[in-house]
Amino acid sequence: MGALDGRKALITGASRGIGRAIAEAFAKQGAELALIATSADRVSETAAACKDRGAAQVHTFGLDVKDSGACNTIMKEAQEKLGGLDIVVNNAGVTRDNLLMRLSDEDYDLVLDTNLRGAFNITRAAARPLMKSKNGRLINIASVVGIAGNAGQANYAASKGGLIAFTKSVAKELAGRGVTANVIAPGFIETDMTGALDDKVKEDIRNGILLGRFGRPDDIANTALFLAGDTGAYVTAQVLVVDGGMTA
Ligand code: NAP
Repeated sequence: MGALDGRKALITGASRGIGRAIAEAFAKQGAELALIATSADRVSETAAACKDRGAAQVHTFGLDVKDSGACNTIMKEAQEKLGGLDIVVNNAGVTRDNLLMRLSDEDYDLVLDTNLRGAFNITRAAARPLMKSKNGRLINIASVVGIAGNAGQANYAASKGGLIAFTKSVAKELAGRGVTANVIAPGFIETDMTGALDDKVKEDIRNGILLGRFGRPDDIANTALFLAGDTGAYVTAQVLVVDGGMTA
């Protein structure tokens, strides 16, 4: 018996990194999945891995989370194919780092539109099915940067800080319908997103992490599993910081 047997979960940004790790962890625990990335092809490897881990259903979708109309359409399709929806993980995200004085309108808007507007588009479309589930779970992936801020990431910090406030509001709005809504705020996790940083910067960051190592996608997937399963039943409107003590 898995912790998520028969639970129907939709995960955005599931092609790689943290989203892929969450998808595989959910699959291993018996969840049925709708996986989203910018194209369905990009998520096919994750889908195959989830099937290998025993997922009874895995559906893949190409979707730009910035597009609210498309989010509504895909949400409906995903729900129909899965036969309901119990868990939504808003994980899709991007960075376009620059110092404030050099930050372009385009890079500000892209990050806010993807990370915050995208999560709104998906959450609004998912609200009805999550309420219908009577045991719905919303898990939004923010960042410690959304709490503490970070030089060179004003756009990203604004998007993740906004996502935290957004999630707490949704938690208050949907609690009466049995839906929990929580945020995971990762520290530095080794994925494509952080892979481009130079070695000196990485070393400085690692030196500031109490546990002495960078996070792995599985560290975040395990936390998502905790929130998605019965283990997380009495947790809502919270921010779980998973950063190895980086911001302690
Ligand atoms: P990643 O490896 O860069 O993966 C990003 C994912 O988001 C990909 O699946 C990508 O799909 C998807 N995506 C991007 N824009 C999208 C859009 N417009 N519509 C649909 N999907 C889109 O990133 P990651 O490191 O795993 O990060 C996952 C989440 O954790 C993000 O929200 C990130 O901000 C957050 N986070 C990461 C870290 C870290 O250290 N890595 C720390 C704190 C928070 P495609 O493959 O199709 O492009």
